[in-house]
Amino acid sequence: MGKVTGFKEYERRLYGYRPVEERLNDHKEFVLPLTDDELRIQGARCMDCGVPFCHSGCPLGNYIPDWNDLVYKGRWADALARLHATNNFPEVTGRICPAPCEASCVLNIHNNPVTIKQIEVSIIDHAFGAGLVKPQAPAKRTGKRVAVVGSGPAGLAAAQQLNRAGHSVTLFEKDDRIGGLMMYGIPDFKMEKTLVQRRVDLIEEEGVEMRAGTNVGVDIPVAELKEQFDAVCICIGSTVPRDLPVPGRELAGIHFAMEFLVPQNRRNWGDALAPEQDIMATGKRVAILGGGDTGSDCLGTSLRHGAKSIHQFELLPEPPRVRTDDNPWPQWPRVWRDSTSHQEGGERLFAVLTKSFSGHDGKVTRLHAVKVAWEQGPDGRPRMTEVPGSEFTLDVDLVLLAMGYLYPATAPFVKDLGLELDPRGNIRTDDRMATNVPGVFAAGDCHRGQSLVVWAISEGRRAAHNVDAYLMGESQLQYHV
Ligand SMILES: Cc1cc2nc3c(=O)[nH]c(=O)nc-3n(C[C@H](O)[C@H](O)[C@H](O)COP(=O)(O)OP(=O)(O)OC[C@H]3O[C@@H](n4cnc5c(N)ncnc54)[C@H](O)[C@@H]3O)c2cc1C
Ligand code: SF4
Repeated sequence: MGKVTGFKEYERRLYGYRPVEERLNDHKEFVLPLTDDELRIQGARCMDCGVPFCHSGCPLGNYIPDWNDLVYKGRWADALARLHATNNFPEVTGRICPAPCEASCVLNIHNNPVTIKQIEVSIIDHAFGAGLVKPQAPAKRTGKRVAVVGSGPAGLAAAQQLNRAGHSVTLFEKDDRIGGLMMYGIPDFKMEKTLVQRRVDLIEEEGVEMRAGTNVGVDIPVAELKEQFDAVCICIGSTVPRDLPVPGRELAGIHFAMEFLVPQNRRNWGDALAPEQDIMATGKRVAILGGGDTGSDCLGTSLRHGAKSIHQFELLPEPPRVRTDDNPWPQWPRVWRDSTSHQEGGERLFAVLTKSFSGHDGKVTRLHAVKVAWEQGPDGRPRMTEVPGSEFTLDVDLVLLAMGYLYPATAPFVKDLGLELDPRGNIRTDDRMATNVPGVFAAGDCHRGQSLVVWAISEGRRAAHNVDAYLMGESQLQYHV
């Protein structure tokens, strides 16, 4: 374990950030890492608990106390081996994971957890810097062919694992670049895309065939895929956004969040944009509807564009500042959170319901809303009522809908394969990630609903294990139960 008395001697210390006024001038990452010596001290704080709750907090079951100890001892290469044993893309999770591991760290009983996520990203950044991350091609091939559809973290993890087991994997992606939401959804200021491309290049070098710009079900019939490959793993994400069908929704200037975020990532790459894609917040009064990650990313992007004003509305009530009695450690704390974008500017309002939009010359100019109250209904579920007299309006030029995603776009898979969906419209699987169609598996957001990168990697790994077992009768591929 780190240092026996480390947790008593050393305080938790997090990386710094570039000043807000400086970082708003570009779309680059703004974290200022700790030095190796400072990180060793953070690793020393781990108590190597008899029951490491951080393991169950992490959906990948990362061997957290092991690498904390190895970092404390300065054994970076060994720390990398332990980290890669469970996590295919620690440079991603170490940047953008909400770190449920830290919420369940025993030191978090007193709100002072080990800086697990920071240590994770430092191990992998250190390793790339030292040239320790090499492609791992399989020693021999099995002769089996697997198609993975969708190249987000679930598809990439599944493809990498299956390739390492010796199968010949083809990864199909409808977009022009590989990476899913890691490439086109998540803004550069949270994670620069060269990091995603570096990992994609490694996986390609390991032997996975990448077919970007191929929309399965349109460019290649699903049934054909099923015939050509011994197994298929569907990882198409959850891409159908929740709309707001209120009067005035059709006005120009009201967009889904991804219509705003994807072009910014493309701009950063230097891609040319069609005029209708070139949506900027510069000089505009912006309203963001939705208080989650996507809304926060719209906020950070609007600030970087130089918006005149930004309001972010959330339908749910303001969360408590500290845990409530019905939400004890080691559960994920349902408390107030400020993202780095929230720390940069904008105004947040909770318990707001948008009722309609109005405008001039076909363009949105005003948002009409009302405050709502939440209480427990007779069935025990939260019930929302409008607060009489609380109606208000907000002058707007740009409205961004960031209210989450409903389900995956599965139409061709349902039509061609007879794939079964669950009542929410996600792909139904059994506990082996197998769908109702023999040889067809599913993982990631298209299966569990809109979630997190760490869960997508976890499900991709689990699907890979089960595809391998389906093809070979057994599998040595590791995954977290
Ligand atoms: C704006 C935004 C910010 C986010 N921020 C965070 C964050 O900070 N931290 C975090 O952990 N999570 C975050 N998430 C969630 C996270 O990105 C997703 O949970 C994760 O990417 C899901 O991975 P996936 O592989 O299941 O799907 P995706 O990443 O959605 O990838 C699915 C891929 O399948 C492709 N595809 C779909 N249909 C087809 C087809 N028919 N043929 C070929 N290809 C197809 C799509 O083009 C896409 O590339 C964010 C999500 C969004 C939208
Ligand atoms: S992947 Fe997320 S939950 Fe797991 S150790 Fe890293 S930060 Fe923690």
